[in-house]
Amino acid sequence: MHLIPCPYCGQRPQDEFHYRGDATVKRPAPDAGEQAFYDYVYTRENPRGWHDEWWHHYAGCRQWIKVRRNTLTHAVAASAGPADALPEATP
Ligand SMILES: [Zn+2]
Repeated sequence: MHLIPCPYCGQRPQDEFHYRGDATVKRPAPDAGEQAFYDYVYTRENPRGWHDEWWHHYAGCRQWIKVRRNTLTHAVAASAGPADALPEATP
C-alpha cells in the first residue's frame, strides 16, 4: 500500500485520496488567445518520473493538496497545501 503525506493529517493510505490532475498548469492571461486556453484545458504532458499533481483527501480532511510523485515508482517526495509551493528540486 502506498502512503501519501497529507500536510494536514500526516501519512495516510493512498486509497483515501483521489488524483485530481496536473499541478503544473498555469492559467494563461485573459488576452492570451484561443490556442493558449485550449492547451490550458485539454493539453497535458505524460511525464516519466517526478511530477507535481493535485490530490484530494476525500476520506480525510477533504483538502486539495499538491503532491510530488514519481510516475514510475509511485514514490512521493513532498506534499504541500494548495497555496504552498513544493520544493524547487527533487533529487
Ligand atoms: Zn488530509
